[in-house]
Amino acid sequence: HPTSLTLLGLGAMGTALARTWLAADHTLTVWNRTPTRAAALAAEGAGVADSAAEAVAANSLIVVCLLDDASVQEALTGTDLTGKDLVNLTTSTPAQARARAEWARERGARYLDGGIMAVPPMVGVPEAGGYVFYSGSPELFEQHRKTLGVPLGTRYVGRDAGFAALHDVALLSAMYGMLAGAAHAFALIRKEDIDPASLAPLLAEWLTAMAPSVHRTADQLRSGDYTKEVVSTLAMQVAGTPTFLRTAEQQGVSPELLSPYFALMRRRLADGDGAEDLTGVIDLLVH
Ligand code: NDP
Repeated sequence: HPTSLTLLGLGAMGTALARTWLAADHTLTVWNRTPTRAAALAAEGAGVADSAAEAVAANSLIVVCLLDDASVQEALTGTDLTGKDLVNLTTSTPAQARARAEWARERGARYLDGGIMAVPPMVGVPEAGGYVFYSGSPELFEQHRKTLGVPLGTRYVGRDAGFAALHDVALLSAMYGMLAGAAHAFALIRKEDIDPASLAPLLAEWLTAMAPSVHRTADQLRSGDYTKEVVSTLAMQVAGTPTFLRTAEQQGVSPELLSPYFALMRRRLADGDGAEDLTGVIDLLVH
């Protein structure tokens, strides 16, 4: 059921989103601060508004995909949001999302925040698996779920407007930890006669095999019993850390990515139970 909507922001992401709605025969009004970016979309059937206020007036569903929260503030100032459904796909912190939700409510709009788990080439390509975390008004989400699902998958994570941003940042933070580990692994073989291209598939396979351990971690956190179904004890793993640090030293590789995690493991062993695995480290991180 094609619908009618407004999109503010035609950067790399906004443009990719816009194309999918046009391709699915939706009536789309767009606005971008730099008008030249709208020209190509006009040729593809988008209506181009001269101002953000005019774009907002054109529809009740308003999707925003701008650089950051400050640009959202700037673009929406002077627009009339009364009775609108505002969907903000701009990356923000949970606190910014909550403040924006309150700001929208004060202006008479329903609010849904989004965290995009995709890069532009994944937009409109369901096989690529990209999706958007949504949080905020459940009524808004239910009403516009189909339209929002045109460019990317949708995952609603709660009424708290900050939860989409929090899930987004949590997943990306885990990704950086994984990439840090992979960087250390590549560094270890850098000076050897080992083809990085032969290490890469082994790394991908190993990381994939290890990833499901997060389910055991979650189970332990829920039960409060960190010794539940432990396969590799903290005591054993801490005993192994000198092997990792000595190997790094022998390969001429800085241990700076690994050391902070090992330090936390040692602290937990000192304070906790050696029969646990690594779940106790989480409690050391939370102030
Ligand atoms: P771009 O840098 O390509 O585009 C930024 C957009 O914001 C442009 O439309 C720009 O307008 C606009 N903008 C910047 N400042 C202002 C302002 N003060 N007032 C009005 N408009 C402004 O970014 P993307 O499209 O890639 O990203 C958009 C959002 O999507 C970001 O929050 C990003 O974090 C998020 N995202 C992006 C991903 C990606 O891989 N690209 C992945 C996941 C999320 P102008 O053309 O006039 O400069």
